Amino acid sequence: MTKNGLVEHFDVIVVGGGIAGLSTAWHLARAHRRVCVLERDWACATRASGLNAAIFRQLDFDRPGVQLAHRSRALMAELSATPLVRETGALYLADAHRLDEATVHLAAVGVTAQRWGRAELRVRLPHLASDGPGVFIPSDGVIDLHGVVQALQHALQGAGVPVRTSTEVTALTRGDDGWRVTTPRSELSGAQLVLAGGAWGAGLGALVGAPVPLTPRRRHLVLLETPSGLEAPVVWRLHEGREVYFRPESGGALASPCDETDWQPGLGEVPSDEQALQSLAELLHDFEPRLATSSVRRFWGCLRTFTPDRDFLAGADPRAPGVFWAAGLGGRGMTCGLALGEVVAAAVLGQSHPLHEALAPARFTAPRS
Ligand SMILES: Cc1cc2nc3c(=O)[nH]c(=O)nc-3n(C[C@H](O)[C@H](O)[C@H](O)COP(=O)(O)OP(=O)(O)OC[C@H]3O[C@@H](n4cnc5c(N)ncnc54)[C@H](O)[C@@H]3O)c2cc1C
Repeated sequence: MTKNGLVEHFDVIVVGGGIAGLSTAWHLARAHRRVCVLERDWACATRASGLNAAIFRQLDFDRPGVQLAHRSRALMAELSATPLVRETGALYLADAHRLDEATVHLAAVGVTAQRWGRAELRVRLPHLASDGPGVFIPSDGVIDLHGVVQALQHALQGAGVPVRTSTEVTALTRGDDGWRVTTPRSELSGAQLVLAGGAWGAGLGALVGAPVPLTPRRRHLVLLETPSGLEAPVVWRLHEGREVYFRPESGGALASPCDETDWQPGLGEVPSDEQALQSLAELLHDFEPRLATSSVRRFWGCLRTFTPDRDFLAGADPRAPGVFWAAGLGGRGMTCGLALGEVVAAAVLGQSHPLHEALAPARFTAPRS
């Protein structure tokens, strides 16, 4: 509500100022929609979008994931003249048949990927205790998280899109002119709503009367000391039950034991568990033994949010008119987020997109026969 008692009206109100919400708002602003972003925290991207491993990973085992990653890279170049990915290259180790599958998806979008066997691994990464097989993607690397968020906010500011922080959405009600959005200090209305609440997505679904199966899961990241530095690209072992990754960071190494624990989010920080350090040391022991005994500079936990099929939730909710989802970004949000926002924005604008069907919320909302 404005000072004179009028309810502010927007074409689209985006709830959540992580990568999903900011990117969707950016695409909508480019299409000249009157958009507003509402974020509960004091700043945007303080949750998963600011606390992740920042790995730009194009390798995936499903085609939409690879397509979105590749498209996001092009969108990063449109968003910022400064490169938003530092191309360290990334090595992925997995069973041969899974790598074959991923290589087909990568080739379909034109990403160069090299197959590394034992000989290449001995030469390129002599400290790594692995005979492969692996796939090395030279154009993968480390995302400038701050750079992406700054560039999105700058673009939104330039387009006159208000991004209101410290503004929690507490109620969403359907009215004559669309959706009425209640926050502790204001009332707004939007013809359409985009729900991009990350780990809090299920709660937003409840507010619009459209429950969604979104499950937040905690994962830990660990910053390790490496006295002689870490000269390596991103290295990710994807074998089931033995998954672990590491990459250079701030003169040390950032690593994860790739843990996954169902977690109900509160409003504070996600508490971390020392057990993660033990798991990481065990996983690194037979893989990169130099890191297994490194001292820990810092470690933290954060939430990745999944749909039951672990694919994104993007598009219109058939049960709630004018409601669109940008959710379920799982562990791929920083890589795929810019392109996912484009998919969601197309749905809001009533335009078709080749990924609408695969990512549609309707796959979880259809009545059971
Ligand atoms: C440990 C870890 C490592 C990861 N590593 C990588 C990686 O290397 N590469 C990669 O591509 N991805 C990675 N990810 C995944 C990536 O971080 C997420 O997919 C992505 O950040 C999710 O973005 P989001 O916008 O959906 O959620 P978030 O960033 O959580 O944003 C949601 C926002 O909505 C706000 N919100 C919620 N409810 C309300 C409300 N009622 N009112 C107003 N605002 C609200 C929240 O405050 C929050 O800011 C990782 C994730 C984790 C946890």
